[in-house]
Amino acid sequence: MTASPRTRLILMGAPGVGKGTQSNLLESRLGLLPISSGVIFRGEIEAQTDLGRLAQSYIQHGQLVPNGVTIEMMFKRLRSDEVRRHGFILDGFPRTVRQADALDELLLEMETPLTKVIELTLDDKVLMSRLSGRLGCTKCGEIYHSVTKPPKREGLCDRCNSPLFVRSDDKPEAIRERLNVFHKTIEPLRLFYQQRNLLVTLEAGEDPEELYHRIIDSLASHN
Ligand code: ADP
Ligand code: ZN
Repeated sequence: MTASPRTRLILMGAPGVGKGTQSNLLESRLGLLPISSGVIFRGEIEAQTDLGRLAQSYIQHGQLVPNGVTIEMMFKRLRSDEVRRHGFILDGFPRTVRQADALDELLLEMETPLTKVIELTLDDKVLMSRLSGRLGCTKCGEIYHSVTKPPKREGLCDRCNSPLFVRSDDKPEAIRERLNVFHKTIEPLRLFYQQRNLLVTLEAGEDPEELYHRIIDSLASHN
């Protein structure tokens, strides 16, 4: 099978592994809709909604936001007509078995099963260095790095000229906690999707373009 509007993917993997970058590529080239729980939470925080205020108290410490509100927020997006029409790439959700179970039920009810769950892996040391120094565009979501992928003009996006920002949870203590939480929670999720024959694990190298092609190839494989 190749990618089509009915392609529905989960991208799993540690913070900094490159889910956001791949998600952007899959969006611009295949027209799949990226749905990132982190991006939605940051939007809620910026708009200072009740959910945003609640989420912020967890996010700034690198901890998970409680399942109930997270599931409710993600379901709202997943149920939209747009998502039904375009297919999606989920990034950052599900992060717990409870979330995965809930998602399973929703997709069953909507008759829109998952195509694949793609897990990206990378050494913790590399992850740490990628996360410290990371910059994101406030407008288009493009991702930069002060050392490995600096913007052409300091502080401004090459693509859309908007200001770049450093995420408040890209501080060393919060980064360490996010990696801890990730290692504590990933195994049961991996098992969950392995049992459903959906899991593909890919090592994320240095080259996003090359990884993108391996992701596309894996969509054609029968696990
Ligand atoms: P990263 O994967 O780089 O840590 P995200 O942008 O995916 O970053 O998430 C940022 C933060 O938002 C997480 O550390 C967590 O606090 C919260 N968050 C995102 N997705 C979820 C989720 N599915 N369940 C609970 N908390 C979440
Ligand atoms: Zn931009």
